[in-house]
Amino acid sequence: MTAALGGTEGRMVQLVPLLRLRHLGDRVFDYLVPPELTDRIHVGSVVWAPFGRRSARAVVVAMADSVSRELAELRAIESTTDDAIPQELLALARAVSERYLSSYESCLRLVAPPLAARRRLGGKPARNTWVTRVPASTAEATVAKLTTKQAAVLDAIPPGGSGIGALCACVDVGRGVLRALAAKGVVELGVAPEGSSMRPERPIAEALPCVSGAAMPRLWPEQEQAVEQLVAAYEQPGSAQRLLWGVTGSGKTEVYLRLVSRVLEDGAGAILLVPEIALTPQMIARVRARFGDKVGVLHSGLAPGERVREYRRIARGDAPVVVGARSAVFAPLANVKLIVVDESHDTSYKQEEEPRYHALTVAQLRLGPSGGLLLEGSATPRAESVGQPEECVRLTRRAAGAVPECEVVDMRTQGGGQLLAPRCREALAETLRRGEQAIVLLNRRGYAGYVHCDLCGHVMMCSDCELSVTYHSRVGRLLCHHCGRTYAQPALCPACAGAPLTRAAPGTERLDRELRTLVPHEQVFRMDSDTLTSGTRVQALLRAFESSRPAVLVGTQMVAKGHDFADVTLVLVADADTGLYVPDFRAAERTFQLLTQVAGRAGRAERPGRVLVQTWNPGVPCIRMALLREEKAFYEQELESRRRLGYPPFADLVRLMTVAENGERAQVGAQYLVERLSAHFSGQELHGPARLPTLRGRARWHLVIAAGDGERARAIVKQAMTQLQEPYRRRGVTLLVDVDPQSFS
Ligand code: ADP
Ligand code: ZN
Repeated sequence: MTAALGGTEGRMVQLVPLLRLRHLGDRVFDYLVPPELTDRIHVGSVVWAPFGRRSARAVVVAMADSVSRELAELRAIESTTDDAIPQELLALARAVSERYLSSYESCLRLVAPPLAARRRLGGKPARNTWVTRVPASTAEATVAKLTTKQAAVLDAIPPGGSGIGALCACVDVGRGVLRALAAKGVVELGVAPEGSSMRPERPIAEALPCVSGAAMPRLWPEQEQAVEQLVAAYEQPGSAQRLLWGVTGSGKTEVYLRLVSRVLEDGAGAILLVPEIALTPQMIARVRARFGDKVGVLHSGLAPGERVREYRRIARGDAPVVVGARSAVFAPLANVKLIVVDESHDTSYKQEEEPRYHALTVAQLRLGPSGGLLLEGSATPRAESVGQPEECVRLTRRAAGAVPECEVVDMRTQGGGQLLAPRCREALAETLRRGEQAIVLLNRRGYAGYVHCDLCGHVMMCSDCELSVTYHSRVGRLLCHHCGRTYAQPALCPACAGAPLTRAAPGTERLDRELRTLVPHEQVFRMDSDTLTSGTRVQALLRAFESSRPAVLVGTQMVAKGHDFADVTLVLVADADTGLYVPDFRAAERTFQLLTQVAGRAGRAERPGRVLVQTWNPGVPCIRMALLREEKAFYEQELESRRRLGYPPFADLVRLMTVAENGERAQVGAQYLVERLSAHFSGQELHGPARLPTLRGRARWHLVIAAGDGERARAIVKQAMTQLQEPYRRRGVTLLVDVDPQSFS
């Protein structure tokens, strides 16, 4: 029964509480507005309201004229934060939830203002405890069961972690909440990494210079043409999307900056997305150098207090240019007419936890209704983006010098049984003798990728994860890269007891050690996620390397990202094959991209660069074509094979996964899904179910739909999810969906 609302009782609104409660689905709840708040509460207002026995942060999503219950039963809003989500972003959250089959609540959290501190804890000194988030994907089911406070704390932890005291003060909770989270395995409590302050980090943005009005260089002819074409695309009515495909070092950033200037002239706003702020500090520095305090910076590495400050500055309109990582696509900026996605092929643009959105798609959704230009920039675009040649603008030349040729080092004949072939050692010694710098890439962490028995073939695995464990010499233990559990390395093979174990598949830790003996008098820097736990440390390392000559930088794919070092004249790839044999249709594309990107770090100034690539598979097309820089041929054959196999851009993918402690239930759940979906999809469209490695003791099965009509596929999956999610949950099976998946592990 519904009752009409009279004018005198006060108003009533519909709320969505910002709680990670999966079983609430997309429900909205009716609440009364107390008379004293009537003027301060509108659609979009962020308020506190009683929910169950606690108080929850919630978003007002509608004003209501009629009530589903007796007015007397309704509860009232407690207070308002005076923060509000603009209409446009409410609509965007709705669109994202539809596109990614995620709950409206989880998408509202993307556009909600960061949680501001409500009360400071008294000046108690922080105890020496460091809190870090456990990688989220597996903790999914646990995360769904968190309380409001727990969820809020979790949201506030920066990627590198935070001191416990500062975190508690900022989110206004006691330490007990963090202990509870640790008990659930969602966060880890440990000691602070060396050199980190106990306060959440100083934002990277502040560590960088901020000088407005830096001299604008004259555009090169190619750049000028690109700017002209892109401005035309921007000025046309409606929305447009373009790809700026420019070789590494061809001056894409300057093109972005000119477009931003043009958009500012119209009094509109621009968002510039970069893959990972910590790895691309030069970009922020350049944007700030041009636009000064008009620039707002938003990313998850900001300390909670700073995030609030930047958010409010942007919401007020004080910073019409926003630079940030993935989530900055949701910046509360009014009248956005340009979104640039730099290095648009980077995998960090896809969020790998609920809601599993891709920033490029969100950018399309955001600009769709209002019009504007979406610009992807890359030297190695995704095959999906290359599909539309009429939307592509090319930059083919470098500022100084040329993009170096790659030389292949065939390890079958030239390796000499060593990690670095004699030819590579010589090249390295020569480069250092000249006082120049070198980068050595090995995309594998640790000392030995796996440890096995030569006699019986037994491989050491994580007992919780069905993944092989990696030997790390720093801790002298075997480490599971998924769950972080460590094991002592047994003296003898635990399976046959016949032989000691062998360490195979050398990683950066071992390469680092070998380089130090090879060039004992030179400076060697190592860059991987084991040595660098925070953005500030990444920057310190990059600065140290930049100012040391001669020097070697060794590391994982982190060394390949957009860095612009003038004196790097040699790039060595220790093993080009690390990404080849993974079960992912993008394996070839990713290998091609990594090799092309790392090669692009050499010879960026006057001195020519040299690139040596070690491989056991010189004939594999993606490696051969990267070496020969045959990008056109590569994308042609890649697109051809995607067309043949029915993969993006010729189909849209939806991946469904069942996760359960009980392996049989996960399997039955996946099989039932396939049965049900096979009524709607052909055998060519529906793949699976397939078993995946167990992670943290939870069995996993998945199936993948590759459909020509993505919209129809999503609608069918949505219906199945709506009907099955709850019954599955009751049987202890979590049903997850990933629209446009980027990962299949
Ligand atoms: P990309 O992003 O395409 O790899 P960058 O934007 O980093 O390339 O540019 C490469 C180098 O060229 C940078 O050091 C940049 O400052 C310089 N540069 C770019 N455009 C110009 C220009 N028009 N005049 C002078 N230098 C430029
Ligand atoms: Zn594990």
